Amino acid sequence: MPPRTCALCDDARAILKRPKTGQQICKECFFYVFETEVHNTITEARLFKRGDRVAIGASGGKDSTVLAHVMKTLNERYDYGLELFLLSIDEGITGYRDDSLETVKRNQQQYDMPLKILSYDELYGWTMDAIVSQVGKKNNCTFCGVFRRQALDRGAAILNVDHIVTGHNADDIAETVLMNIMRGDIARLGRCTSICTQGEDTIKRSKPFKYAYEKEIVMYAYFKKLDYFSTECIYSPDAYRGHARAFLKDLEAARPSAIIDIIHSGEAFEIKEDIKATQKLQQTCKRCGYMSSNELCKACTLLEGLERGMAQAAVTDRARKKMDAEGPAPENLRRIPLFKLPANLQANSNVDTGVR
Ligand code: SF4
Ligand code: ZN
Ligand code: ZN
Repeated sequence: MPPRTCALCDDARAILKRPKTGQQICKECFFYVFETEVHNTITEARLFKRGDRVAIGASGGKDSTVLAHVMKTLNERYDYGLELFLLSIDEGITGYRDDSLETVKRNQQQYDMPLKILSYDELYGWTMDAIVSQVGKKNNCTFCGVFRRQALDRGAAILNVDHIVTGHNADDIAETVLMNIMRGDIARLGRCTSICTQGEDTIKRSKPFKYAYEKEIVMYAYFKKLDYFSTECIYSPDAYRGHARAFLKDLEAARPSAIIDIIHSGEAFEIKEDIKATQKLQQTCKRCGYMSSNELCKACTLLEGLERGMAQAAVTDRARKKMDAEGPAPENLRRIPLFKLPANLQANSNVDTGVR
């Protein structure tokens, strides 16, 4: 059988089957369609404006490495006028994050972007290794997820950037839709498909790979020979997400459009007015000034539990009551430094931080 020609350019030899569409195409056309789809996602959602300072959340893994490469390519090709930075969070996981950060440092050279690394240890006084030694391997990802989210915002504030982009891909978002349905978490279901998750007066967070398939990201990294780190975290990831992931992979095998279809379903859900009314208003943490829907932000609550040797307090209500019964937090408790928005956002902000 003669070699197939590319379904897009009808010229070069097709060397791959595109996971998203099943088309047989050549390498150059694959790069072009992949990049153009991300460009379309960015322009349709009007993610950026000229002069924006944008931090790429970089872990050294495939998603964020491909994101850094594609953001640099598109910024040059279409003259977005963005200033790009790499922002990495060091969770303090020996044998995992220390190695992946070496990859990020090489990416910094390869992509010629400034890099900021912020560690849990310097911010919270705890590494994930130390947290796992207190809480075990059951709720460790709860701590890690809350700490990472806040660390990224704090790193962005240090870099004085107004926008963070993360490498979350279509598979991640479809998995989250499924998990929120399975848990009945309607408030999160409403938010999880948004491409941009924060408002005008906070640091924006967005996902340019919202419609990019994980398999295509892997393929892109492979054919571009990008330098990335592919080992999994040594502390077992969220088991519940694992079920959603396995289910999604089965659906994708039967029908590749399942991933996009689930995202579209998530987007189409409407939240009833009376459910919206029960959602808490955003305020600021009275201890550290970070955005929060309670008096104390989640990171401060988790940190207090760790410091008082009652780490479960932020995870279960029973443990929280037990900690409260022991009296208020001691005065000399370790605190997270005061959070300040980057200078250009402070002027716009109408949120009263409550911290002077
Ligand atoms: Fe952190 Fe859990 Fe992810 Fe490991 S798997 S990096 S502990 S969230
Ligand atoms: Zn082609
Ligand atoms: Zn706080």
